[in-house]
Amino acid sequence: MLYLSKSKYCNLWQCPKLLWLNKFKPEEKTEDPALQARFDEGNVVGDLAMGLFGDFVEVTSFKDDGKLDLDEMMRLTQQYIDEGVENICEASFSYNGLYCAVDILRKDGDGYAIYEVKSSTEEKYIYGVDISYQKYVLEHCGVNVTGTYLVCIDSSYIRGDELEIDKLFKIIDMAPFVDIEIQNVPSLLRRAEEVMALKDDPDIDIGLQCEDPYDCAFWNYCTKHLPSPSVFNLYRLPFKKKIDYYYQGLISHNDLLFSGKISNEMQIRQMMFTTTNQEPYIDKDGIRDFLDTLSYPLYFLDFETMQQVIPQYKGTSPYDQIPFQYSLHYIEHEGGELKHKEFLAESGVDPRRALAEQLCEDIPMNVCVTAYNKGFECGRIRELARAFPDLATHLLNINDNMADFLVPFRSGYYYNKAMAMGGNFSIKTVLPALFPNDPELDYHNLEGVHNGTEAMTIFPRIKDLPPEEQEKARHNLLKYCELDTYAMVKLWEDLERVAK
Ligand code: SF4
Repeated sequence: MLYLSKSKYCNLWQCPKLLWLNKFKPEEKTEDPALQARFDEGNVVGDLAMGLFGDFVEVTSFKDDGKLDLDEMMRLTQQYIDEGVENICEASFSYNGLYCAVDILRKDGDGYAIYEVKSSTEEKYIYGVDISYQKYVLEHCGVNVTGTYLVCIDSSYIRGDELEIDKLFKIIDMAPFVDIEIQNVPSLLRRAEEVMALKDDPDIDIGLQCEDPYDCAFWNYCTKHLPSPSVFNLYRLPFKKKIDYYYQGLISHNDLLFSGKISNEMQIRQMMFTTTNQEPYIDKDGIRDFLDTLSYPLYFLDFETMQQVIPQYKGTSPYDQIPFQYSLHYIEHEGGELKHKEFLAESGVDPRRALAEQLCEDIPMNVCVTAYNKGFECGRIRELARAFPDLATHLLNINDNMADFLVPFRSGYYYNKAMAMGGNFSIKTVLPALFPNDPELDYHNLEGVHNGTEAMTIFPRIKDLPPEEQEKARHNLLKYCELDTYAMVKLWEDLERVAK
């Protein structure tokens, strides 16, 4: 018999091969380090939404081994339905091997409405797929389903002193999606039975489904036959276009370069570098023009931020980027010593005011400040200026004097084969491309925190760690952020060197 859950049904809808690989070759999955954080976040949102309609019961039950006790959950669900309970959370049903737990099952006249909770800020077709499956299972279990709704986050909500969950969440009627999609359930289930009976990988090629609705964790497995780099590493080419070229057999950079189909200058240059052993390209005039926009005292700034789906602080909205840390290298005059300052907030408290005050102390007005991809830092500074009007003049002065180290690289003034192979101009690509053998500049050599995603995941958790682990985590965060600005200093020195 075919056994499916909501998430497996959604896997099936995205790509039957994904369902098969998840079952028979899970070891081929590329783990996403941010996945657990997103999962935890979804659980927090789900728990909060349970109280959206007032009193509720939750049927979640566990066995002695810690696994969900589905039989008990289904028994409790039936009991609460028989008792006429208004709101049943995680209401569980099974029909012919098809299992689902409804986030909130709400009594509605002589039937029940399904409410699916997501931490997203908008409706997506896949949510309609998910809810259609639930409706199909419930109706086959004899439930009169009177409505199908999505409960998701209202991104326009601004938190006051207290969190107001009726304003944080918005409810969207998913009937238009569900009415169409539920008709596809029987044929999709038949397809699942065929696919899951296969002994080998289903013969399904990569396609648009590989990143819609979600980036597939088996991408590396399904593309292991492709050359590296391939069309999928081409700079700033939309995925749809990449798939089009792939189906046309234009897969390697060599094929693409000589196809005459690519007209974007940066893409052509990328392929010329990946397919030959050219010397680095250095446009001294371009680099000089950029360097001439900088002046002493010269500051190198980088923020680390966290995102909270459920806003924790007054005046913040869902998914706001909240800065909690910065690193600042600076040189006061030509030939001067490289100095460093840093800030890392206490975990568990609103970091914004203390960070903004410290930033204004550490960076004087009317000095040249640099960031890598400054749009991010400038955005956070402007938000701080809005939140703290008494600091706005100083903060906006920092914002107005910001230069961007991304410019000389994205403008193509300085380019080499390693950057071409990397396929983008992030500092994590550019730095090793220019300093390939420098262990001091290798993010892999850091302990605990190697990228912004890890930083934003670890910081909010510090408050719950034992004291010695807190100290270690804070140390790791400081070292990571310090490397980001030290990397900018090294890039600047290298630009100065090659522009001579
Ligand atoms: S990478 Fe694409 S083809 Fe492979 S399992 Fe995932 S969605 Fe299917």
